[in-house]
Amino acid sequence: MSQHPKIAQFLARNKEFAKTYIPDVTTKGIIHKGEPFTVIVCCTDVRVHPQKFFGLKDGEAMIVPNAGGRVTDDVLRTLYTLDVMSDGGLGTVIVAQHTGCGMGKATEESLRAGMKARVPGKAKEIEAMWFGVFTKSYQDNIRDEMAKLKSDPYLGKGEGGLAVLGYLFDLEKGTAKEVEMGGGVGVGVGDGKEGD
Ligand SMILES: [Zn+2]
Repeated sequence: MSQHPKIAQFLARNKEFAKTYIPDVTTKGIIHKGEPFTVIVCCTDVRVHPQKFFGLKDGEAMIVPNAGGRVTDDVLRTLYTLDVMSDGGLGTVIVAQHTGCGMGKATEESLRAGMKARVPGKAKEIEAMWFGVFTKSYQDNIRDEMAKLKSDPYLGKGEGGLAVLGYLFDLEKGTAKEVEMGGGVGVGVGDGKEGD
């Protein structure tokens, strides 16, 4: 049993939750049979709630978060797996990044330096690490990830193909602004700010 006070609180809340819990309609299978499903790749930031931004109902989309909301190898692994596991296949992927993202503020160097300070014995290994910080405007970062998904040789091979969409969540306004592939270039390199 966890002694951590925060976790004890989580578990106490879970006890309450379980009392009135009704299994979701999607619990029997991971997704609705036969229907193409939607995945939202987004940032792990605690302020980012695709469920709230898009008013999602249970089972409407799967959320795949990571630092920055990047299409990493592990995100692709997740997408391939889900695509094959389901009847309907993967129908839509939304890349949703957000304003004020920490990945737009850090640099690869600053993160490597932080890691080296913690684990000095692994400096060489850390030097080869990639953290995926933003080097372009949010819009252009999102476009890069969308392009990666669109050109992936293993995705979109099902009947209906694959729709790839991009959105920038504005954490000040609560808006989800669409980012189109053909949009203009964003603001300069390395600032992780809002572009066009
Ligand atoms: Zn973020």
